[in-house]
Amino acid sequence: MKMTDKKVLQEYTLDQDQELRFEVESKTDKVYLTLKSGIAEVFGTEIVKGKTYEFTAGAKIAVYTWHGCVLEVKGKTDVIYTAKETPMVIYSNCHGALEFMRIEAEKDNKRGPIAMLVGPTDVGKSTISRILLNYAVRMGRRPIFVDLDVGQGQVSIPGTVGALMIERPAAIDEGFSQEAPLVYNFGHKTPHANSTLFHILVEQLATTVKERLEVNKRTRASGVIINTCGWTKAEGYKQLLGSAKAFEVDVIMVLDQERLYNELVRDLPNFVKVVFLPKSGGVVERSKSIRSEARDQRIREYFYGTVRNSLYPHSFDVKFSEVKICKIGAPALPDSCLPLGMKADDHMTKLVVLTPNAGLLHHILAVSFSEKEEEVITSHVAGFVCVTNVDAERQILTILSPQPKPLPNNILVLSELQFMDTH
Ligand code: ATP
Repeated sequence: MKMTDKKVLQEYTLDQDQELRFEVESKTDKVYLTLKSGIAEVFGTEIVKGKTYEFTAGAKIAVYTWHGCVLEVKGKTDVIYTAKETPMVIYSNCHGALEFMRIEAEKDNKRGPIAMLVGPTDVGKSTISRILLNYAVRMGRRPIFVDLDVGQGQVSIPGTVGALMIERPAAIDEGFSQEAPLVYNFGHKTPHANSTLFHILVEQLATTVKERLEVNKRTRASGVIINTCGWTKAEGYKQLLGSAKAFEVDVIMVLDQERLYNELVRDLPNFVKVVFLPKSGGVVERSKSIRSEARDQRIREYFYGTVRNSLYPHSFDVKFSEVKICKIGAPALPDSCLPLGMKADDHMTKLVVLTPNAGLLHHILAVSFSEKEEEVITSHVAGFVCVTNVDAERQILTILSPQPKPLPNNILVLSELQFMDTH
């Protein structure tokens, strides 16, 4: 299917229920897409006819049409082809079923569907979340998007779980608008780095999301779409069950993995509908290094914005004495050394205050909303800063921050994630 690279302008005519898939790999290249005639969409967002969209390195795109269209593509793509078989009709039926549940919920002023997407990595979970949210919002709904994928999440930077109220379709080239997200800092790229903490945060997020559903009638009927990470075996499976329970999900969509589907049917109560969905042949597998690059890119965008929407972060010094830097999780103690009443798991949620040191360099720090140390773990965060210099002699940290001095709070929580500010 791999085609020769093209710098020139190419026209593609698609019949109904087909999609044009392409990838932009090379660092320096950009690809421009224009809809010449017909109707088409990118992951559920309609394309405006005649408008040119720009895609940069790393983009993996599918332009789908329900009724046929003509597209123009300009620039060098690494792969570009028209796919005649897509699972879009099945995904659209899922949307139809969710919409039916929303209509029923609306009638009785009840909660709409809480749906969760699960499956191994690279099966299109994030993409289907986006499609379902876009279809919902295009029908006038206001669903909540919850992202539990701490590695490649879409709500904030990596190492977090969070929720976002979806009020308009995702921008074709930039995803959902990140206004006022609710974000909890986990501080690791994979949930198994601290399963205890992950579960606490999921429960906390679920409680807050359910409170939000209570206060907003439109959102209540619209429901929630939850994206998860691709860890589905052993402890990862238990975590999926835990997340399903915490959010009281009504529907679980299992992508691609029959084993997981059967396990969930076996282990979940009957009132939870478990649906098996095929993965799209277009989903691109990402190597470890591409995933790591994508994480870097997310953090860079957090501070510097995107090509279309540049941001100008601030760099300033803070004295060691002005901040309290904490880490969640202390080294494990043998059972015999534990204080009376303390469980072996408790050390994973212990807040440890650190003396600022050179090891903080390039690390992301979450700015907690909490005023009290005992509430730091379950408190959501105001934002993130990155340590760009540690001057032990002068007792000063230099930080990169989206906002100017002063920091909204002096309690900062260390994340395992790092970012090299090469701007
Ligand atoms: P993970 O669990 O690792 O985050 P995932 O299951 O959520 O992965 P996605 O992020 O949805 O998978 O998809 C992986 C990549 O494939 C993305 O870059 C996405 O843009 C691309 N992709 C998804 N569907 C298609 C398609 N139909 N055609 C072309 N590319 C696609």
